[in-house]
Amino acid sequence: MTKDQFEKPLDPEFPLHDDSLTVQGAPARHNEYGAIMAPIFLSTTYRLEDINQAGPYEYIRTQNPTRQKAEDAVARLDHADHALGFASGMAAIATVFEHFHPGDHILSSANIYGGTYRFFLDILGPRKVDYDFITDLSTLSDADFKPNTKAVFLETPANPTLRVYDIAKIAELAHRHGALLIVDNTFMTGYLQKPLALGADVTVYSATKFYGGHADLNAGFITLNDTDLYNEFFFYQNTLGATLSPFDSYTLLRGIRTLAIRLDRQQENVKAVIGALEKHPAVSQVLYPGWYSPDEAVIQKKQAKGLGAVISFAVKPGVDLGVFFEKLQMIDLAVSLGGVESLVCRPTTMTHAPYPKDKLKEIGVRDNLVRFAVGIENKDDIIYDLSQALTIAQESDEVLDKKVDIQ
Ligand SMILES: *Cc1c(COP(=O)(O)O)cnc(C)c1O
Repeated sequence: MTKDQFEKPLDPEFPLHDDSLTVQGAPARHNEYGAIMAPIFLSTTYRLEDINQAGPYEYIRTQNPTRQKAEDAVARLDHADHALGFASGMAAIATVFEHFHPGDHILSSANIYGGTYRFFLDILGPRKVDYDFITDLSTLSDADFKPNTKAVFLETPANPTLRVYDIAKIAELAHRHGALLIVDNTFMTGYLQKPLALGADVTVYSATKFYGGHADLNAGFITLNDTDLYNEFFFYQNTLGATLSPFDSYTLLRGIRTLAIRLDRQQENVKAVIGALEKHPAVSQVLYPGWYSPDEAVIQKKQAKGLGAVISFAVKPGVDLGVFFEKLQMIDLAVSLGGVESLVCRPTTMTHAPYPKDKLKEIGVRDNLVRFAVGIENKDDIIYDLSQALTIAQESDEVLDKKVDIQ
């Protein structure tokens, strides 16, 4: 729903810092009882004052006061005019893709969330929406655009390679060709990076990750400033119906309040973990925003407030990842990220399973790559757990090698 329609705008003379906005982005002081936490409005329908005029709320799928609060909180953190809340990140992404018609062309980074990649292959393709995957978006140029190119889609930092792409530069290029720039900002959140302020037209989120923050919420958001486009997406949201439920809106509001302190702590942990992994003899490479080149490190510094809380690392040949995952004592093997707990996964067989093998190789994702979503636990415990499991995984292979030698 459009921000400020039912809420007092925050005083422009008192622009809150982002860490205050995560807490105060959807203040509860305008509700009838002065409750500090937004109430959950479960009512599916609202009484109308007369037969010709609807009130601000009419029917749950169309508008809901708790969802409105959640949308306000996400919009405010992005400094966006509008936000829309959905039942999942994929529902938000699918709604944005409703904008495109047969004959349109989309340029997408090849390095995106597996579910979005599958959406291109199995939904947009059969719908005759044309697309090209760009292996390295930093090479994007005028020559990639076609007369029917309607949008560029990207994630930065990319998942799971942590490559960084220049949002402002790509926005400028897209706009020169009359195309929209759509950014999936799930990995950074509005706390660390604001794509709309950098020139993007539409931001999408899986709020299942950092906004929820506790691995107990499935939610997605679109944020944008263009009112016509907002009205179009609002129409799709209401017509397709994959809206964020009142209870999940409440969970979102509860989660987003601690987004800043969670990310601050996670980023502290990330720095320590990078240092420890780089020194570990079982690890061949550590991937984090900026690892790829000094240029990308500069771009990350320019467009974001930190590294975020997801890194990846490659293990040396012979290190048995099966043993590594099995020997972890605290950290769990699971997909997803952005919660308070540390999680590891292997993208090739898990999050990026929808990708063809050769495409994964092309973007640099191999079977020896581990994605690590760093939690808020004590950093010494995280490092101890990783190190001991890596050491056993490496030694188990040495034993195996020796056996082979004896034979
Ligand atoms: C998880 C994720 C999605 C999909 O979100 P859901 O909430 O699981 O539907 C989209 N993009 C990125 C980058 C993700 O990590």
